[in-house]
Amino acid sequence: MSLLLHTCCGPCAAYTTSYLLEKGHEPTLYFYNPNIHPYQEYQRRLEGLQQLAAIRNLPVVVEPGYPLEEFLREIALDPEFGKRCVRCYRIRLEKTAEKAKELGMTAFSTTLLISPYQNREQICAIGQELAGQYGLTFIDEDFRSGFRQSQAMAKEYGLYRQGYCGCIYSEKDRYYKSK
Ligand code: SF4
Repeated sequence: MSLLLHTCCGPCAAYTTSYLLEKGHEPTLYFYNPNIHPYQEYQRRLEGLQQLAAIRNLPVVVEPGYPLEEFLREIALDPEFGKRCVRCYRIRLEKTAEKAKELGMTAFSTTLLISPYQNREQICAIGQELAGQYGLTFIDEDFRSGFRQSQAMAKEYGLYRQGYCGCIYSEKDRYYKSK
């Protein structure tokens, strides 16, 4: 099945892509992540993903542009952790569904489904809603059991491994220590 796989970074794609290939899918990696701040961090994660794609010999589609302002405007409506994430999932999954349709693919999914730190129920609900809207199949495999293995693969391949989820809010959550 032709599948557009939204990919947030190389480490999360490492296990996910090997799993999907084993299951007979033909994933094309799609990088659309205006939630990654600042821009140099975005570039490092993109480079890690391209490195992984070369190892797996998989095609990559990189969405041009970096709509940081648009993303922040949307997230600022609900900046609390959890609520902002639902908006963030929708922004990225909606673009992925649109792109899958444009490219004539039949299915889409996301590497976000490997992370035990993300809200699987919300991601799946949004994915299924968009699948209905765009006439696609949303692959909602639970990849979480492969999370540690994916991190180990990333280490072995020398991929860049980030220290926080992506947005400036998550960077603060990770590093800011109030006095
Ligand atoms: S914490 Fe992660 S999922 Fe939540 S809004 Fe920030 S980048 Fe998106």
